Amino acid sequence: MVHDAMSKPSPRQLTLISNQLLTPHMRRLVLGDESLADFPDVYPGSYIKLLFNAQGETDLSQLSQEQRPAMRTYSIRALDRLNARLTLDVVMHGKGHETGPGSNWAATAKPGQPICIAGPGHLAKHAALEEGADWVFFVGDATALPAIACYLQSLPAQTVGYALIQVKSVDDIQPLSAPAGVEIRWLQEEARQSLSEQVMALPWLPGRVGVWVACEFDMMRALRGYFRNQRSVPHQDIYISSYWRRGKPEDLHVIDKREDAQQFEAG
Ligand SMILES: Cc1cc2nc3c(=O)[nH]c(=O)nc-3n(C[C@H](O)[C@H](O)[C@H](O)COP(=O)(O)OP(=O)(O)OC[C@H]3O[C@@H](n4cnc5c(N)ncnc54)[C@H](O)[C@@H]3O)c2cc1C
Repeated sequence: MVHDAMSKPSPRQLTLISNQLLTPHMRRLVLGDESLADFPDVYPGSYIKLLFNAQGETDLSQLSQEQRPAMRTYSIRALDRLNARLTLDVVMHGKGHETGPGSNWAATAKPGQPICIAGPGHLAKHAALEEGADWVFFVGDATALPAIACYLQSLPAQTVGYALIQVKSVDDIQPLSAPAGVEIRWLQEEARQSLSEQVMALPWLPGRVGVWVACEFDMMRALRGYFRNQRSVPHQDIYISSYWRRGKPEDLHVIDKREDAQQFEAG
C-alpha cells in the first residue's frame, strides 16, 4: 500500500449527483464527473478537499492566481471509477456561527451543482494495520465514521478488537460491515457518554495492537496521552489525529494541529 501526503493538490470540478440524509446528522453526497475514471487509487482514510470562495460558495472564478480557496477536508467513503462516482459522508453540525462552508454546502446543495475538489490525500503508513496486528482499536467521532467504516470493511475476516464510535444520537448509528471479532460500540453525545472514559475502561488485549483514532482536538489529546504514554503504543503502530477543533474553523484548526504535533514529538 502506497501512502503519501497531499503535497500537490490537483483541483478538478465535479457535479453533485445526489444529496441524501443518511441519518439525522449525516448527509451522503455523491459527486460525479467523467474525469473520475482516472482518479488515483484510494485507501481507507484517503480524503479530498472541497474548495470554497471567501463567501463559502463554490464559484472560484473570481479568485486571483495568488488567492487560495478555503478548503474543507472529507474522507472518501467510496470511489467507483467505472460509474465515475465519488461518495462523501458529511456531518451536519451546528447552526449559525457554529457551522461552516463544508457543512452548510452539504446541507443545501442540489443535484446538478458544480464543486471543485483537490486530492486525494492519503494517511501516513500504519505499520501495525498493514503488517497484521494481533488486535485493532479504532476510536472516532462522527467525522471519523466514514474512514472507520472503510477500514472495517477492508480488514481480514479473522481480525479482532474494538471500534468505539461516538455519534450525536441513537438515530445516527449506521449499519457497518466488519469482521465478527471486532466489537463495535456506539456512544451517544446526547447521552453524555464520554469517548475517552469508555476507551480507557475497555480491557487491554495481549499482543501487538494497531490503534487508529480521529476526533475533536481536545479529545484527541486526551486519547493520545492514554495510548502513547500510558499504554506505550509505538509511533508506527498508531494513527491519531484531530479532525476538527471546537470553536475553530478548519483553517485555524490546522495551525493548532501542526503546532501541537511538533510540541508532542519534541517531548
Ligand atoms: C483527514 C480528515 C478527514 C475528515 N473526514 C470527514 C468526513 O468524512 N466527514 C465529515 O463530516 N468531516 C470530516 N472531517 C472533519 C471536517 O473536515 C471538519 O469538521 C471541518 O471543520 C468541517 O468544515 P465546516 O466548513 O463545516 O466547518 P468550519 O468552518 O471548519 O468550522 C466552523 C465551526 O464549526 C465547528 N465544527 C467543525 N466541525 C464540527 C463537527 N464535526 N462538530 C461540531 N462542530 C464542528 C468548528 O469548531 C467551528 O466552530 C475530516 C477531517 C480531516 C482532517
